[in-house]
Amino acid sequence: TGDRVVSPLPAAEDVEASVRPLRLDDFIGQRSVCDNLKVFIDAARGRGEALDHVLFHGPPGLGKTTLAQIVARELGVGFRATSGPVIQRAGDLAALLTNLEARDVLFIDEIHRLNPAIEEVLYPAMEDFQLDLIIGEGPAARSVRIDLPRFTLVGATTRSGLLTTPLRERFGIPCRMNFYLPEEMEAIVRRGAGVLGLAMTDDGAAEVARRSRGTPRVAGRLLRRVRDFATVAGRLPVDARVADQALQRLEVDRLGLDAMDRRYLGRIASDYAGGPVGVETLAAALAESRDTLEEVVEPYLLQQGLLQRTPRGRMLSASGYRHLGLTPPARPAG
Ligand code: ADP
Repeated sequence: TGDRVVSPLPAAEDVEASVRPLRLDDFIGQRSVCDNLKVFIDAARGRGEALDHVLFHGPPGLGKTTLAQIVARELGVGFRATSGPVIQRAGDLAALLTNLEARDVLFIDEIHRLNPAIEEVLYPAMEDFQLDLIIGEGPAARSVRIDLPRFTLVGATTRSGLLTTPLRERFGIPCRMNFYLPEEMEAIVRRGAGVLGLAMTDDGAAEVARRSRGTPRVAGRLLRRVRDFATVAGRLPVDARVADQALQRLEVDRLGLDAMDRRYLGRIASDYAGGPVGVETLAAALAESRDTLEEVVEPYLLQQGLLQRTPRGRMLSASGYRHLGLTPPARPAG
């Protein structure tokens, strides 16, 4: 699903750097997260101390990496980035940590995918700013303790449920990221059009915003595709009609769903009588990984109320049926 135009995961075509907001004040949306961060950043900076460790959790493409960079910039400290699966050995983590300067930000994306042995090394580093390493093997092995500078770990995860409790508890500042509100998405699309130098009317921006799944990364990608369409067709500025035509060609429907989403919902309707059906069963039926369904496909469908998650499995809601152009079955009341 990596090549879906509405995928919230990063793709090669995303030229991200030029569009990333650089300061907290330029960051649109996630108001409560930003307001909290501002207070904690001001306090840490005022005391000349490292900021407490921060955990961002929420669906992909909502700005976790962007906010981590902003945190470092607002603190006026260095920024290093890595990701959970990249850190293979304790030595890799040790190299990263011992190269930090005091108060620096170390960003670990996909922190739920850290290997458990590495997590053990991370605990004392986060808590006591100490690294306990075993050097050598067998009878000659000895443990050494290294003092680390006080640093800020910023972790990001799409699945906070997959984080171990001891790791989760070591983050003093947990931040839950949510899908963006429609008016926030419009502002993000208008800003993105400005960065791309794309002439766009307000209703054009609203149309792209409505179909971007509450996700800035998707908005950026749709904007670039709409720009291609409008430029080739000589239809500038982009108004709602042009945006709609471009998005229809991309098979992105009025709610921002694509063929994959409709296939997912359609399967539950046609093969499982609307559910409940287990996610493993669905993954097998659709030849998708369970992780992809849970991380990439389902969050937006749940947020839109098209899908319900119950203890017995996934269920298509009445609006899910209607979105597919089907009549919801009569269910017994209560
Ligand atoms: P995540 O780490 O959550 O997957 P990123 O931080 O990589 O998401 O953001 C994805 C894209 O969306 C980037 O191009 C970023 O510039 C853009 N973006 C994210 N949040 C915002 C925002 N609040 N305003 C404008 N652009 C944003």
